Order: sequence, then C-alpha cells, then structure tokens
Amino acid sequence: MCGIVAYTGQRDAQPILLDALGRLEYRGYDSAGIATQNGSGLIVRKKAGRINELAQLVLKKPSHGTTGICHTRWATHGEPNDSNAHPHLDQSGKIALVHNGVVENYQMLKDQMLAAGHSFSSSTDTEVLAHLIGMHYENSVLEGEDRFLQAVQAALNEVEGTYGIAAIHQDHPHFVVGARRGSPLVLGVGENEQFLSSDHTALLPYTQKVVYLKDFDVVTLRPGQFSISTLGNEAASFEIKELDLSPEAAEKGEYPHFMLKEIYEQPVTIENALRGRLSKEEASARLGGLNLTNEELRDINRVIILACGTALHAGMVGEHMIESLAHIPVETDFASEFRYRNCPLDRHTLIFTVSQSGETADTLGALREGQRKGFKVLGICNNVGSTIARESNGGVYMHAGPEIGVAATKSFVSQVTIFSLLALLLGRIRTMSASSGQELIDALHKLPDQVREILQTTESIRHVAEKYAQSRSMLFLGRQANFPIALEGALKMKEITYIHAEGYPSSELKHGVIALIDKSTPSIMICPKDTLFEKT
Ligand code: GLU
Repeated sequence: MCGIVAYTGQRDAQPILLDALGRLEYRGYDSAGIATQNGSGLIVRKKAGRINELAQLVLKKPSHGTTGICHTRWATHGEPNDSNAHPHLDQSGKIALVHNGVVENYQMLKDQMLAAGHSFSSSTDTEVLAHLIGMHYENSVLEGEDRFLQAVQAALNEVEGTYGIAAIHQDHPHFVVGARRGSPLVLGVGENEQFLSSDHTALLPYTQKVVYLKDFDVVTLRPGQFSISTLGNEAASFEIKELDLSPEAAEKGEYPHFMLKEIYEQPVTIENALRGRLSKEEASARLGGLNLTNEELRDINRVIILACGTALHAGMVGEHMIESLAHIPVETDFASEFRYRNCPLDRHTLIFTVSQSGETADTLGALREGQRKGFKVLGICNNVGSTIARESNGGVYMHAGPEIGVAATKSFVSQVTIFSLLALLLGRIRTMSASSGQELIDALHKLPDQVREILQTTESIRHVAEKYAQSRSMLFLGRQANFPIALEGALKMKEITYIHAEGYPSSELKHGVIALIDKSTPSIMICPKDTLFEKT
C-alpha cells in the first residue's frame, strides 16, 4: 500500500501536495517524493524515510510549480531508499509517475526495454511502467496532451497487476493523467483546481466534491476541468459526490498522533454506529441498508464473514455473537483465503465482507468471488464512496469518521458494535425474547460511557506499559468472544511496538504454548466475570 496525491491549479502545488500527503502516511511511510512542473522542466525530490524527511529536503531545495504529483511509499519491489522512492521518470526524463500497486509482469517488460537500450535507476516495478508510458509516447503520431493520455492508456493495456497512478509530462505543464485498477483513487473537484488522492480525507481542507474512480477509469486533470474515460478511450460514467465532513476530521487536533485521537473517539464511534438503529418497540435493531426483508433474513441458515486483519477479528467476535444470540452457524475466514478456495455454499448462505476503508484488495476480491457464484454479498465499511460500498449488494455503514492512524482502533469497536446489532436483529426474528432483546439494547446504550470510564484510567495503563516495555514476547489469552479480542491485542502489540505477541484461547495454553512462558514473558488475560472466569 502507499499514498498518492496530484494537483493542478493556480496555486503553488508543493505545500498543498505535502499537506495532503501527510494525511496518507497511514498508507506507507518508508520513503516519499514529489515532482512538480514549473514551465521549464520537472523538479523531482525524493527521500528515504518519512514524509517529514522529504519536507526538510524541499525546504532546502524547493520544488515550486502549479502542477505536481507526490507519493508516500510502502515498498513492494526494491528496498526503501532514495532511488526507489517515487516519482519515477521514463527514459527521456520528461515523464514523472507515482504508483500504488504492483506491476506483476514488470520483469518481462523490463527485459524487453533493456534489450531496446533503456537504462533503469531503481529496482521498482513502477519505473518500468514509467518507461513503458514513455515508449508509447515516443512512438505516437498524436500531438499535444492527447498524445500523453493515449500513451498512458496504451501502457496500462499492457500491464498485469494493480495500479492507482498519477503522471505528468514536462511538455504539458498544466495536465495530469491518473488511472486506477485495484488501488483506490479519488478525484477532488475544486474551483479552477483539481486533485487526485488515494483517499478523500487527504483532500478535505481543499474540496468536498469528489468522484470515486472505478477500476479501468482514466482521468485527465486541467486546472479548470477534468474528464474521465476508459482504458479504451471511451467516455466513462461518473458521479460527483458532495462530502459532508469537516476538515478537522482529518486533523490531529490536540493529540500528538492520529492513533491516540482515534482511541479517544471510540465512545462517539459506538454512538454513531448505534444511532437510529435500535428500536425500543421491537426490542430489536433496524438495518435498512441490508436490503433484505425479515422473511429473507429468516431463510438464512449460514453466515460467512470475510475480512483481513483487525476487521477479521471483529468478524470473529461477530461470529460468536450471531451464533449465541441467533443460533445461525457462522464461519469467519481470511478474505485472502476464501477468494482462492472453493468453499461449498448453499443458497441460504449470507456473506458479509468487512473493511474499514472499503478498499482492502483481498476483501474486495472475496466479495467479487461471492457475487460471481451468484450470492448477494453485504458490506460493513466506513468509507461511503469506497469500492466495497459501491459493489456490495447492501450492508451497514460504520459512520466512524476518517481513520487515519496506521493501526485500526476505533473501527474495530465500530465493527463489533455493528455485529452486535446484526446478532440482535437475527436473534429477534428467530428465538430471542423481547426482554432479552431489550437487555441487550440497554447494555449497548451504556457502552459509550463505559468506554469513557476506561479512557480515564490512562495513568494506570501507562504504568503497566512502562513495566512491560522491555519485554521481547507477550501472550494474549481469552476465551469465547474474548479469544478474537486476544488476537486483536496481540496484533496491535506487534504492529505498534514491534514486540512479538501471540493471541491464544486461554484453555489452549496447556497444549504446548506454555513452553514459551518464562519470567520475562508477560501474559495478558482477558477474563471478565463470566461463566468461564473460574476456569480461566
Ligand atoms: N510497487 C511499488 C513499489 O514498490 C508501489 C508500492 C505499493 O503500492 O505498495 O514502489
């Protein structure tokens, strides 16, 4: 994953690009780069390290111009260093390209171009694409900006793999070409200025008007206009959406970093996930976006939840809740595994995909595989205009606001909240009594304040963290619904502290894992006072 931004307009592109790029750092942060046009050539600056390193570099060596592209990288091909950082140039040095994705056939293309005399200065797949665009440009008989547009289209027709790209050409100073296939790309429409970004939150201070580009869309930006075509140069359909998000939603505010801000947003996140979805009279939940009647929901005899990472753990909590409250068998699977296995499904199966961004490639692949087999696939996601939101047959929005921190936090509690609503709804149309439904509703209403209470105990949490900060390995243990909570705790520990951690069902400890435990291995037990407390 990585983040890209492009700008063309009347203003100096450099500060706008760097500011917007800063909000995409969650997508990658091993190196960053910028290319701008100042009418007399391309200025390219790139640097290994975080965006701040790039900002320091352009402070010393500015890169002014009214059109530009930039990138924050999370390497897939080639180590994170200055020369592998994007933008990459073509053989002529006149084309600059930023890319999010993987060019799967890059080696074959590179070999062909090496044989034709091209020389490469990085080990990335992206530079090969830049050269391929350049080659089509050189061979073209067209003139002007169309020549550049068609060179991009022709090159992308030869590419296997995924891309979200933005490219500029030195001879076309007020022109940007973008395209997507498998990696997200959003067009931001401004007054006499246009933007591209991997994610709309990066654009919030600049425009609320966006177009979520579809796979195979190719977009051209000029300061006063944009147009969207297909890879075959046919006009493509699109819709301009008006966002209703304040620019502050994408700012850190008083917090030192986004993760902390988002941890503190958890109570509001739960309130937002519940808002308007609980019915006192029916002692149930109302989820109109599922696009399924109660009869259709009653007809379901199996639920499959597909997701990756944190969302998968939320799905596992969901599995437990739906099975115990609605007595429907539930299976949670890695989206990346489901899409490649031949899972037997009968027609009463309901599939859910879960993804905060709505762009997780494996989850999207699983959604499409489910639909290909003729199933309705529902989505639980946060980004309203995302590909999963658009392509699913219905679902539930999280309304959690932007999650910019690299590690998912508030989105996890939001997804778990939504699964509890689903379990309540599915339970109430089956065997759950009205009084049990009302009990659950009362408990859900209390939840935000209970989380607020926990967030007031940060001092004691700090003491615990300081005590164990030097540990090399940790275990997280829980049972039933708390087993996925243990998995999520271990995932967060690995991702944020680089301390090795494992999540296990507490009862499994004795079957081998206990061998890992010594005086220096802390074990974190998640054991609420439930029926298994004594056993644990
Ligand atoms: N494949 C490109 C590189 O390694 C882009 C990375 C990405 O999108 O994750 O530079």
